[in-house]
Amino acid sequence: MSSYFQPVADLHTHTLASPHAYSTLTENVAAAAALGMLAIATTDHGPNTGDGGHIWHFGNMRILPERIAGIRHLRGAEANVCDYDGTLDLPERTLSALDVVIASMHDSTLPYGTPEQITETWLRVAEKPLVDIIGHCGSPQYAFDYEKVIPVFAEHGKVVEINEGTFRVRQKSLENCAVIARLCAKHGVRVAVNSDAHYLTQVGQLDSAVALLEEVNFPKELIINSNRERFEAFLQTKGLAL
Ligand SMILES: [Zn+2]
Ligand SMILES: [Zn+2]
Repeated sequence: MSSYFQPVADLHTHTLASPHAYSTLTENVAAAAALGMLAIATTDHGPNTGDGGHIWHFGNMRILPERIAGIRHLRGAEANVCDYDGTLDLPERTLSALDVVIASMHDSTLPYGTPEQITETWLRVAEKPLVDIIGHCGSPQYAFDYEKVIPVFAEHGKVVEINEGTFRVRQKSLENCAVIARLCAKHGVRVAVNSDAHYLTQVGQLDSAVALLEEVNFPKELIINSNRERFEAFLQTKGLAL
């Protein structure tokens, strides 16, 4: 484990609600608690992938307590970007009731586009006030004009995710991730390190993402889950508390 910083929250995890993931919400929260984390977000895929949560899964998250296994649980979603207009696969009334919303591009819901198309798509997503985090945006298949878009993420207060899962399953993205991280540092864009866990042993495992940020000498004050104070500041922007 790097001494650069110790992540205090994991804001991107999947449960059995996404059938290609294999742990329950309760198991994931317990795994995060066992690591000494302060918080975890449950962010199953939006319904349009065919392998995501049913719309009722997201609508009913209001029944979940704020604290589970002694730590803060955030009710979330990884919404799919479904077209080049930046349309998401969950309605605003559902997203607005959640604590944290990630928007991601997946090949099951968005055809690979030209860099011009993907640039335009992210610019539109950036304008959506209910999106908090830009999910794993380093895929070469969804390359975009990083110099143009990253400052716009800053303008709209988006957090860019450095996704540990990328080091497992999207290694071709890593070069882009370093470019994106450097641009986030340059333009003052906040980032989060997230596991994208699909099984409980992956929860809170963030070493490669932390190492990437350390390599580019990323300013810790821009990493929202790098300590309690910064994480609480992020929650406050959402009207939430630990
Ligand atoms: Zn994803
Ligand atoms: Zn995910």
